[in-house]
Amino acid sequence: MNRQADFPILGRQVHGRRLVYLDNGATTQKPQAVIDAEARYYRESNANIHRGVHWLSQHSTDLYDRSRERVRGFLNARHAEEIVFTRGTTEAINLVAASWGRNNLKAGDEILLSGLEHHSNIVPWQMVAGQTGAVIRVIPVTDDGELDMRAYAGLLNERTRFVGACHVSNALGTINPVADIVRLAHEAGAVVLIDGAQAVAHQTVDVQALGCDFYAFSGHKLYGPTGTGALYGRKALLDAMPPWQGGGDMIHTVSFERSTYAETPQKFEAGTPNIAGAIALDAAIAYVQEVGLEHIAAHEDALLQYAGAALAGIPGLRFIGQARERAAIASFVVDGIHPHDLGTILDMEGVAIRAGHHCAMPLMTRFGLPGTARASFALYNTFEDIDTLVAGLHKARRLFGMEQSA
Ligand code: PLP
Repeated sequence: MNRQADFPILGRQVHGRRLVYLDNGATTQKPQAVIDAEARYYRESNANIHRGVHWLSQHSTDLYDRSRERVRGFLNARHAEEIVFTRGTTEAINLVAASWGRNNLKAGDEILLSGLEHHSNIVPWQMVAGQTGAVIRVIPVTDDGELDMRAYAGLLNERTRFVGACHVSNALGTINPVADIVRLAHEAGAVVLIDGAQAVAHQTVDVQALGCDFYAFSGHKLYGPTGTGALYGRKALLDAMPPWQGGGDMIHTVSFERSTYAETPQKFEAGTPNIAGAIALDAAIAYVQEVGLEHIAAHEDALLQYAGAALAGIPGLRFIGQARERAAIASFVVDGIHPHDLGTILDMEGVAIRAGHHCAMPLMTRFGLPGTARASFALYNTFEDIDTLVAGLHKARRLFGMEQSA
């Protein structure tokens, strides 16, 4: 697969070198179709939604609703009302924590989080735990970077009210057995949220097949704009949840004595949303669907295999996380070179990787590391990109006096 030409930024140089962008776990680059969709919206369709009697407002509302329907189909949700637009995964999880969590958790209840979580699926729950007296428990991670499913089953009990787990770990690439996680949680009577931030760009997601109660993702990791994303929630749950932010667009009636609220999902979308972003997200998902997630997954799998073999040839390089099921991420350390130094040296070669704790400090602590170097792949990456990464790592070893010049 060679789709580099669809992404204008990939034609630029960094430090005089061809840009090799391997930081896709942080955010993906945008295809021309997405850039055009956002510009076209402002050029031809800009008006506030749900408010105007005029044509342009109705047109803008139609485009916004079409995007919601696109997300519904993308996740295979049953109803468009089950899709709430958010600023991204973080806001989606905060919505669930603030609305469902604060109103359903009480002292002594248990919140069970996987040990692989990004801070955005930890901190909101700590805040709710502080407010309600609920207790956080953690599903341990094995040396290979997999969730210990036996320990998980043992941790579930009648006090477990909520389970939160990522679909794919942003730090290690581990693909979690989410259908099993959901089934066991439901058997224990708990509500489950799956953080799909690192999954939706790499594999087909079917929320009905997974059976989860909530599923969150960010548009910017899916070739779409920053500040976009969505929360899927089962309709019965969303209907029973109170709004978490008040303002325009989320109400039915308002008086100074009391207000009544709009239906799901409007009651969770207070204020003017990122309309242009939602419309560009529609274009991003259309782009991914046109390329085909099965082709993307196969291509990224080939890249991961190739990178695995090539990186393994670098003396002193150790992979962190060797789960049997992994997606598009190679996380590693190199003896004697701090990940930040690796990142800086690679940057001078035009190679963008992520170095650090990846917003997963508890997971880094689990592995006794301050951080790792992470190369994360997208549909536009090539084998040549990986060759450039490997050459840069050899150069780093030479600069640190660990290798002779060739
Ligand atoms: N969850 C995971 C697994 C992530 O990788 C990220 C971002 O890196 C997030 C949540 C937070 O996403 P955002 O910053 O787009 O809200």
